[in-house]
Amino acid sequence: MYTISPKCPNCGAALPSGSTDCQYCGARIELAPTLQQMRLLGFPCPNCGTLADKGSRFCSNCGQTLLIKCPGCRTDIPLSAHVCPKCGLNRAAVALIREAEEKRKSIDSQTTTRLEQVQQQIAQHESLRRVKDRLSLEAERLEVDAAQLGQTASNLSGRAAAILGAAFVIPLAFCVLVHLATAALGKGNAWGISCLGGIPAFLVVAAVSARHYVESQNARRKADTLRNKASDMRTPDAWRKYATPDETKAIETVFEWGKQEESRILQESEAERAKVDRWLEESFNALK
Ligand SMILES: [Zn+2]
Ligand SMILES: [Zn+2]
Ligand SMILES: [Zn+2]
Repeated sequence: MYTISPKCPNCGAALPSGSTDCQYCGARIELAPTLQQMRLLGFPCPNCGTLADKGSRFCSNCGQTLLIKCPGCRTDIPLSAHVCPKCGLNRAAVALIREAEEKRKSIDSQTTTRLEQVQQQIAQHESLRRVKDRLSLEAERLEVDAAQLGQTASNLSGRAAAILGAAFVIPLAFCVLVHLATAALGKGNAWGISCLGGIPAFLVVAAVSARHYVESQNARRKADTLRNKASDMRTPDAWRKYATPDETKAIETVFEWGKQEESRILQESEAERAKVDRWLEESFNALK
């Protein structure tokens, strides 16, 4: 079927078929009886809608001033002038550029939405979710173990401190006992000698305290290791490290699909933008 691509008889812009007004210069138009071109009917008064002739400065019906400000030089120019007589700016061209920008923006926002949807589909995909759920369970278990180890560590270090206290008390008691015993046996008051035996007793008890302390440090280190592993398992990319080969394969298939989807969407977006560029160029060339 032969369709006429309507062109505004005033400014020359290509219009959507069926247009009765030019959205670029404001002209009222109609399809000419020959069906070959559009015919200019006039310019609707912004106040009462009465059609005014090209170049009219006042509405013949309500007297409204038919002037608008040129978007380029801010001079008042006739409503019907699509080219500013003062600065030469083509209002229709400005409107076309603005429209192209809107079209590009809408394409871009649609593209962004579609890309986000792909990312969402990947994130919610069963094969990835299953691994994430498993890792999160394991991480929870590790955190429980870490908490228990932490408790053990603080018990051990508490015990180490208590034993170290005893390391001072026990040799002293030993010292006093030996002194009292030797005194009772009538062997003089040799404090120094009595207390010599306290030194090995101190060393033994101090060594036990030190062992508890070392064990508590070990437990604390182990707890830290488990906690670090648990938080590592909770990172978004943890599956790369912790998934089984089968799980990895399934997930990579999903990612591969996502990559293809994204490149298809980007290609479509590029094509849409190219269409806008072509449309703008053609429309520009058509302008009077
Ligand atoms: Zn027009
Ligand atoms: Zn009017
Ligand atoms: Zn101007």
